[in-house]
Formats: sequence, C-alpha cells, structure tokens
Amino acid sequence: MNKVTIVGAGHVGATTARELAEMNRVHHVVLIDVVDGLPQGKALDIQEAAPIRRFETRVSGTNDYADTAGSGITIITAGIARKPGMSRDDLLSTNAKIVSEVTRSILQHSPDTCFIVVSNPVDIMTQLVRQISGRPKSQVMGMAGVLDTARFQTFVAAEVGCSVRDVIGMVLGGHGDQMVPLLRMCSVNGIPLRRLLPEPRLQEIVTRTQNGGAEIVGLLKSGSAFYAPGAAAATMARAIITDAKEVLPCVAALEGEFGIHDLMMGVPCVLGHGGVEKVIDFPLEPDEQALMTASAESVRKNIEFIKDMH
Ligand code: NAD
Repeated sequence: MNKVTIVGAGHVGATTARELAEMNRVHHVVLIDVVDGLPQGKALDIQEAAPIRRFETRVSGTNDYADTAGSGITIITAGIARKPGMSRDDLLSTNAKIVSEVTRSILQHSPDTCFIVVSNPVDIMTQLVRQISGRPKSQVMGMAGVLDTARFQTFVAAEVGCSVRDVIGMVLGGHGDQMVPLLRMCSVNGIPLRRLLPEPRLQEIVTRTQNGGAEIVGLLKSGSAFYAPGAAAATMARAIITDAKEVLPCVAALEGEFGIHDLMMGVPCVLGHGGVEKVIDFPLEPDEQALMTASAESVRKNIEFIKDMH
C-alpha cells in the first residue's frame, strides 16, 4: 500500500501524483510514461514542492516498469484524452491497446496490485483491466462517479448558494451521457433538493453534470479536465491506503446488484484496505432503475469490442 504507481504522466496522471503526494499518506509515488523525461521532470517538480507543502512522500519518475515493482495500488491514466467533438467512445480503440499493454507490464512487477482505472471510456477500460489481469473483482475499479458527483455538488452549491460540503449527492451509472444522478437522495445537509429547487432547474443541473466533461473540453479546446479528475483518483487511492471504508461511487463489477449482471459500472462502494470491500446495493424507484438499466445497456454495447482481448 505504501507505493502507488501512476501510469501516464500527462495532465491527469501528474495531477493525481501531486494530490497524492500532498496527502502525505503514502511513502512513494511513481510516475511512469512512454515519453522519455516527462515522468522524471514532473516527478522532480512535484518533489521540489515538498518543503513548501510540507509532505514527506517520495515522488519519482521513470520509463522502466522495473521501478514500479511492489506497487500496492496502480492508477492507470495512460492514453489519449478527448478532443472537441470526440466522444469518450471514440477513444475506445486507441486506449484499449494502451491499457492492455500497460496492465500486462504492471503485473510483471506487481502481481498483487489493486487497479484504479481512469483512462476513457472508463467503464470499458476498467472491464478490460479486469479481463486481462484476472485480478479479483475487489482489486479492479474505475474512477468516474467521484468526479461526476463532485461536478453535480459544485453546480448545486452554486445554485443554492451554500457550501459544497453541505451538498449530499451521488451520481451512478456509466460515465457517459447516461450517468444517473439520484435526485431523490440528494440534499443540502438533509433538506431534500427537490424542496429547494424547482424540477426544471434541477434537470438543467443534471444535464450540465452529464455534459460536464464536454463542457471543459469545449473551453480548453485541447485536452480534457484534469484538476478534478486528479483529485477524484487520489481520493479513491487514499480511501484504500487509509482503510477508510469511505462510501464512494466507483466503477465496480456487478453480479446482480441493481439488477445488472456481468458488467462494470458506477455504483456506491465501500473502499478500504481490501479495495472494493462491498457494493452497496439497494432498491431503486422504477424510474431510477430504468435509467440504470439504460445506462448499463449503453456500456454493454462496447463490451463486444474488447471481449476477445487477452
Ligand atoms: P494526457 O494526454 O495529458 O496524458 C496521457 C499520457 O499517457 C501521456 O503523457 C502519454 O505519453 C501517456 N501514454 C500514452 N501511451 C502510454 C503507454 N503505453 N504507457 C504509458 N504512458 C502512455 O491525457 P490526460 O488529460 O492525462 O487524460 C488521460 C486519460 O484519462 C484519457 O483517456 C482521458 O480521457 C481520461 N480521463 C478520464 C476521466 C474520468 O473521469 N474517468 C477524467 C479525465 C480524463
């Protein structure tokens, strides 16, 4: 647990490394990338912030998988990011090749590692890592819901005019246009959101959340979001490292939970030393269940594409 490798030293990877280092909960963060000098340069830059930010975490960069040996957690951010007009699914073919190669290389040196997958389309890439690694379902998860939920909380807090910390919510389902914000369970410190905001305004916030990634891509014009995604991935790693038993929405393997079988998708999970220690399954209202089922079907469409990759 005391060594975390982050594959891909791009925007998300480097941000995750900095977040993790500053949390001061892990001894060693390794950044690895195919580009010579990139992980070494970014790692050194992060390391040089240690005296200012007062953390003890060692941060190193490499192009050699031997240096990742013994990693308790591996965060995969390698791949290409979305460009304007590109859907997450357009990324599938390129990123599937990168993610399968990375998974094999990591396992050669850290056969017992726990994977947190970030590369998009994340539901499919997480499934691919599970398929290739053969790791138990508790040891492979994807980051999506923590980010989607944070976006939703940000928009609600701005609308209500309250602290983001008072907004309770959870976004489930696939990390795409069909993600499922559970409005019934959203509240401002226990006050149901539906009592505070009119339904049309709530729906606008849901739509903005669903398009949250595209909104940033459109503004940046090159590349996609990385500050909030980096914070989200590091938060998942911290929950595992500290055995926090934190309930976070993660892409996890479903074997009947929420009526969904043989698919990985965003659901509430308890994260601790054991990885995904539990999927919290509970009955949904019929309209919520219909959204979850539709979201699952849209994820399932792409499973065909990776089913023969080993
Ligand atoms: P980026 O282009 O800045 O970084 C990607 C890095 O991966 C590059 O440095 C590249 O050299 C490296 N890379 C490519 N092939 C590699 C390989 N075989 N081995 C090791 N490294 C390799 O992109 P980014 O903005 O950091 O985004 C990374 C990924 O994360 C993208 O797929 C993006 O869509 C995804 N993402 C997911 C979420 C989410 O919510 N799950 C959020 C944001 C970004």
